[in-house]
Amino acid sequence: MQTLILPKDGEQPRVSSAQTAVIAGGGLAGIAAAVVLAERGVSVVLAEREDYLGGRAGAWTDQLSSGEKFQMERGFHAFFRQYYNVRSLLRRIDPQLACLKQLDDYPILGPGGQVQSFSGLPVKPPWNVIALTKQAPTLSFLDLIKVNKTAALAMMQYERDWTYGNYDQMTAGAYLLSLNFPPDAHQMLFDVFARSFFNPGEDMSGAELLMMFHFYFAGNPEGLIFDVVNKPFSTAIWKPLENYLKNLGVDVRSNCTVTRVATGTDKLWSVELNGEQVQTDHVVLALNVPALQLVVAASPDLNNAGFRSSVESLGLTNPFAVWRLWLDQPANSDRKAFAGTTGIGSLDNISLYHLFEDESAEWVEQHGGAVVELHAYGVEPGTTEEELREDLLHALHSFYPEFVGANVIDERFLMRGDCPAFAPGSDAIRPDVATAHEGITLAGDFVRLPLPTALMERAVASGYLAANTLLAPQGIKPEPIYSIPLRGIFGRHSRLKAVS
Ligand SMILES: Cc1cc2nc3c(=O)[nH]c(=O)nc-3n(C[C@H](O)[C@H](O)[C@H](O)COP(=O)(O)OP(=O)(O)OC[C@H]3O[C@@H](n4cnc5c(N)ncnc54)[C@H](O)[C@@H]3O)c2cc1C
Repeated sequence: MQTLILPKDGEQPRVSSAQTAVIAGGGLAGIAAAVVLAERGVSVVLAEREDYLGGRAGAWTDQLSSGEKFQMERGFHAFFRQYYNVRSLLRRIDPQLACLKQLDDYPILGPGGQVQSFSGLPVKPPWNVIALTKQAPTLSFLDLIKVNKTAALAMMQYERDWTYGNYDQMTAGAYLLSLNFPPDAHQMLFDVFARSFFNPGEDMSGAELLMMFHFYFAGNPEGLIFDVVNKPFSTAIWKPLENYLKNLGVDVRSNCTVTRVATGTDKLWSVELNGEQVQTDHVVLALNVPALQLVVAASPDLNNAGFRSSVESLGLTNPFAVWRLWLDQPANSDRKAFAGTTGIGSLDNISLYHLFEDESAEWVEQHGGAVVELHAYGVEPGTTEEELREDLLHALHSFYPEFVGANVIDERFLMRGDCPAFAPGSDAIRPDVATAHEGITLAGDFVRLPLPTALMERAVASGYLAANTLLAPQGIKPEPIYSIPLRGIFGRHSRLKAVS
């Protein structure tokens, strides 16, 4: 673990004058920013449009047709061990991280019974990469000889400027093809990985994929195995974080939509919340991409042309689908809690909720059967819900035939399109946390950051950085921000040098 930002001697723990902040968006990024600002004495309003916190990782109460209450979520989430900033946020409410349960494997299932396991691999790079290539059933020695070594080496040569300079204009799909891996190995080792970032390979930047590869594997000292939350997110994370914020005096407003930011009268800025004008010193826009674009379009006082065009340049990737099923048949006893899938329709993974989450385990104890969740990322535009359901069910039956003939006791199907795109060439114009407007910062899993990071960890790191940036001019002790090594083991400036 590397510390990117560390407090220095002489910095003040708290602000010395009364100051206010409005944070737009109660997802991970907004909550992380709220925690840092409130802990340093800033009076914070956290405005969230929905009636629950957590955004894309949020959870809410729902009811099965039997009348039993349950917590529905926006989908299964993997908490990797190198999510240092997510973990430091969670430690505020759960110092021992008791809500996280380690999964012992995360297999990838392919057509015809192919399985790629990640258990038992050495934790540290490059030994993890070497061991994976040696044990991959889809890769022979002859295949390895034919691999494009220069392209493959780029996975271990990550350095922000070099990687984005050389690979941001290329698509992730073109980069993966240039590796010259045999089709089966390509599918089992890379397709699942690339699709997990919601962006189809032909629309995603090659540099972004290489950064992810460095972050999750080639530069990750913590291993590929991840943790899951053993309770619904609302119980384990969101309610405790909301209470933590309220104890710090944060005014947490749900069902509260931010529509506009204008130059303030009493303070630097005025933010419109459900029609009310709130004057504030600091603003963090921790919205998803469409909401940020709407707010900026409605805020002519945010008039810096560079800022406006970088926000306008952001895009969304294809929609994703999450299908939770309560089935009356059990899964085979050797099934894992989570499996990535590839090669059969649009299905990207299968989670067996009753194997790790207490509420679902209780349901299965009472009724038998299984609680299953299916995900499809990067759904082809134009696909109807009916087509997708048919496709996902067919794939589930192919991978887990024990569910053929199972009755669906209940189900929830979500299809949404609010995940950010990382298109080729987008890094140059992607907005940073700091903006050209004094007192205004951005946070979210779409912003450009100086550290290799992704998804939930990117959201939290950006929230911390947004708060640090606002308080830096006053010499306030920043929140530490942690990172895996900033460069790959064969990066130009690392001690090891590539032999190509
Ligand atoms: C199905 C699925 C599976 C995933 N799996 C993983 C995983 O395994 N591991 C991982 O690391 N990540 C995963 N992710 C990604 C992860 O959920 C996101 O990266 C992260 O939650 C983004 O947080 P955020 O705060 O940047 O954005 P968001 O969570 O989108 O937060 C933005 C918030 O702004 C609110 N908002 C919008 N408009 C307004 C407005 N006008 N006023 C006020 N509030 C507004 C929204 O309601 C939302 O709460 C997954 C995502 C999905 C959808």
